[in-house]
Amino acid sequence: MRDCRIILLTLILLSGCHAFKPSADLKYFFPNFTADDKGMLLQPGQVLVTFFGTSTLLFDDGETQLLVDGFFSRPSAGKVVFGKVSSDKEIIQSVINDYHINRLKGIFVCHSHYDHAMDAPEVSKLTGAKVYGSSSTLNICKGEKLEDTSMQLFEVGKEISLGKFSITAIHSKHTPPFKLFGKTNATDPNHPDITSPLQQPAKVEDYIEGGTYDFYIKHGERKMLVKASTNYIEGTLNNYPADVFFLGCAMLGLQCDTFQNNYYKNTVQATGAKAIIPLHWDNFTKPLSKALVALPYLTDNVDSGFRFLLKKAQEDKIDLRLMQGGTSKVLF
Ligand SMILES: [Zn+2]
Repeated sequence: MRDCRIILLTLILLSGCHAFKPSADLKYFFPNFTADDKGMLLQPGQVLVTFFGTSTLLFDDGETQLLVDGFFSRPSAGKVVFGKVSSDKEIIQSVINDYHINRLKGIFVCHSHYDHAMDAPEVSKLTGAKVYGSSSTLNICKGEKLEDTSMQLFEVGKEISLGKFSITAIHSKHTPPFKLFGKTNATDPNHPDITSPLQQPAKVEDYIEGGTYDFYIKHGERKMLVKASTNYIEGTLNNYPADVFFLGCAMLGLQCDTFQNNYYKNTVQATGAKAIIPLHWDNFTKPLSKALVALPYLTDNVDSGFRFLLKKAQEDKIDLRLMQGGTSKVLF
């Protein structure tokens, strides 16, 4: 998690600086990205998705709701770098109320860094939904005294059925380590997992990655792929055809051409997706709002990442849509 701290320290240093600005003019890249289907009455077979920043997504077919990650607290950069972080119950409850999260059956956690896994136990307590995750994620839940019956270790490649949805966790890889001023950072190979219950408040570096997973979500004939982290394992997604690809974009713009092309090939092209919705492009030390901003320069180059994706999407005639914080879209 040291990479996160370096990014956030940079954010703090830059936040007092006049030159500080997000690294992408979102309206320039996505002039229509604020469209919102929130509250739309769903017809049978339709699926509504709501984006809450980072890789937090709510899927709803009118009967069953599923959540990916469920990270709503978004603590400030000051807390992340200099202090400890914990779930903000008030913020979580207000999201649950505003978005009528009252039929939630599962919370699927991509990996165990705080910006994915931290709020999962609290969301579970407030909704009754079960948390599905790695052993590290389950240790985050145990630290918050979540009942054993409210958490489940997922088996990679094995479908979990919830209502008309089915979800499969797939082995993946975390975004490449961040480099700043020549310093690199990566999960400590000697401590790849959270091995004992982690109690809040905790330091961000205590939220160890614990393995990274993609989620293949099926609803009837419709198929979706959720990839929170900007990385891939060659060929892994070849057997997972998808209609919509929720594509992690954190630091995509900082990668070389070869990586960007291989990433696209092993994700969007491998699944034959006809629509892309970018994930994890926003500055997650700012509160959730309909005015999320991109990560700033030095921590990412979102312009470059989006420019690459727009070019590819145009070539392949794929619909590329950016969603703002808390906005919804009927997928099918
Ligand atoms: Zn992470």
